[in-house]
Amino acid sequence: MVEYFTLEELPDRPMFRCERRNATLQVSACAGMWSEANGKAAPERLDRCKNCPLGAKHAGVGEISLSPLRGMSICARCHQGTTRLIRKHLCVSCYNREREFNLGRNAKGSAPVKHPPLHNIEIRYQAGEVLQRLAMPVVSSEELVVAALRDTSKQVTFAFSGKRPEMPQGELFV
Ligand SMILES: [Zn+2]
Repeated sequence: MVEYFTLEELPDRPMFRCERRNATLQVSACAGMWSEANGKAAPERLDRCKNCPLGAKHAGVGEISLSPLRGMSICARCHQGTTRLIRKHLCVSCYNREREFNLGRNAKGSAPVKHPPLHNIEIRYQAGEVLQRLAMPVVSSEELVVAALRDTSKQVTFAFSGKRPEMPQGELFV
């Protein structure tokens, strides 16, 4: 439970003790930091505010994703952090390997042999209350799962076909 209090000189500014930042904060300041931490070009100093459910509540945003992958600049295929995501999805290396695979030859002119085949896979998932589909040529369904967790700001629940609309995430890989 979070306890709110006010200072005598600031009666209209509720405050609380933030465990993550180990600081006493005004609710409005917390909301602002949460919004900045979860926005574009979030500064590193606000890392601890990212994915904070209390901050989300103060900012008036419900059902947020608490996945540690959310908003990370990682390649969904090889899971490496990268400064640049091609098609907002792959690192430069994976993108180049895929290109060579599709062309049937690498930079040396020979056929790429190590690249796994690409499959057109579709996954369905719920983002908050909304059913979403994600489909693209990938090396595995795991790649789509990582992409969905990385790119969805609402809480993600994975689902399968109509017969069994919802399954725990663990079963997806069986
Ligand atoms: Zn990669």
